[in-house]
Amino acid sequence: ALQLIWLRSDLRIHDNSALAAAAENGPVVAVFLRSLAQWRVHGHGTNKLDFWMRGVAALKDALEGLNIPLLQCDIDSFDQAPAALLAIAREQGIEHLHFNHEYPLNESQRDQAVMAAFVQDSRRATGYHDSIAFAPGSLRTGKGDYYGVFTPFAKAWHKQLQPEQLALRDTPSPQQRLSIVSDAMPEPPTHEKPAVDARQWPAGEEAAADRLERFLHFRGRHYHQQRDVPAIRGTSELSPYLALGMISYRQCLQAVLAHNDGSLAEGDAGLTTWVNELIWREFYQHVAVGFPKVCRRQPFQDHTQALAWREDEKSFAAWCEGRTGYPLVDAAMHQLVETGWMHNRLRMVSAMFLSKHLLIDWRRGEAFFLHHLVDGEFCANNGGWQWAASTGTDAAPYFRIFNPTTQSTRFDPQGEFLARWIPELAQLPAKARHAPPRDLLSQLDYPAPIVEHKFARQRALDAFKALNP
Ligand code: FAD
Repeated sequence: ALQLIWLRSDLRIHDNSALAAAAENGPVVAVFLRSLAQWRVHGHGTNKLDFWMRGVAALKDALEGLNIPLLQCDIDSFDQAPAALLAIAREQGIEHLHFNHEYPLNESQRDQAVMAAFVQDSRRATGYHDSIAFAPGSLRTGKGDYYGVFTPFAKAWHKQLQPEQLALRDTPSPQQRLSIVSDAMPEPPTHEKPAVDARQWPAGEEAAADRLERFLHFRGRHYHQQRDVPAIRGTSELSPYLALGMISYRQCLQAVLAHNDGSLAEGDAGLTTWVNELIWREFYQHVAVGFPKVCRRQPFQDHTQALAWREDEKSFAAWCEGRTGYPLVDAAMHQLVETGWMHNRLRMVSAMFLSKHLLIDWRRGEAFFLHHLVDGEFCANNGGWQWAASTGTDAAPYFRIFNPTTQSTRFDPQGEFLARWIPELAQLPAKARHAPPRDLLSQLDYPAPIVEHKFARQRALDAFKALNP
């Protein structure tokens, strides 16, 4: 019997649990629901939407190679998903819907509503755990709780991982051609020009596989040394692909096994450090399920709810526009706004600057990041912001406040990254770029620091001390 696969953030034909299961049960029809209004409410911007839609186009081609037609419908909000899917199932006489779980709260509520609607209509709907190794809830502390701290989570992850969790799912063989044909790609969601460069971020699983292989071949072994240096392309730049499932965690880990004598935990320091980052990704997805308050704009640490964040539009605008007078923060914000991606070290530095030095509500920064990031993904973004703001899991103790100038001399010692993103500073000797001399600022057309580090640090410490944990 005909099977329906609903593709969402799993835009690939290889190693896709739901697709493999659907294809085992009969010929397959695929569907993609574009919910632009809902995605906008969630805060995604043009960069992610552009990459997403290019990914759907690549997926459509890949599915057509298997004679699987891809139907596409526009819905406004997630509430309309059950009716839209049921309409297709009834029209095509499909009994069984398959999809891979998405874990943030709105997505999982949507999926429950879809399941209920299918059951009520005497049809079946099956969800698969595909995007991470452990279904949320299946890794717990000794007390039976969800982990709220990363390190023990990662230990348990390594300890309990079974080969089956890494086994690649079958790619369906081409099926007999059906009478149903694919829908044409809909109009682009916006005519706004994205900042992401499509040549730098080609969408689709072939591009992702190629990127993974090149990373592991050329850079993986140096990852632990180069990952914190933003002037070097030392990381995989796979985040947008992982966020939309153009590559799976299994494909990533299988490739590590192949490059690291069959081990994920031991052996090459670069590769094992990289595996750890993939576990961070998984950790934050478990957190979103175990502590759904984080999906409701609440801090993970309840007592930080009372923190007296400052209303300061001028400083917020300076941060957004990269005019804080702290070159590393400003260079980072230029990288984000001009390319749609930001290096991890800088995400930490700039998030901490907003939430600590400026004492501005981390949720405003979280939203700004999500709006610009091509890899914008709720769990990782929320987790990263709450970590930086010390409201989150595994909370960076609140008294850890990065000094942006020290971070700059440490991670961009030659001021290369600074000069690339703030051309005004390129004319200064490397050492002077981290904190441009005050008497040169007007000549350089570069602002003085909007807040003094020591003062800002103390202000943040006082605000946190005033809370009662
Ligand atoms: P690599 O270093 O090659 O890591 C491999 C993969 O592991 C990444 O592609 C990503 O999927 C995952 N990963 C790495 N670090 C983390 C992390 N700290 N948390 C969760 N997953 C991780 N990542 C996103 O994918 N989307 C976001 O919206 C996002 N927002 C962030 C916001 C803040 C404030 C911070 C501090 C981090 C955020 N991250 C986010 C995590 C991390 O910065 C990016 O995943 C990473 O920079 C992407 O580059 P890469 O693919 O080269 O990573």
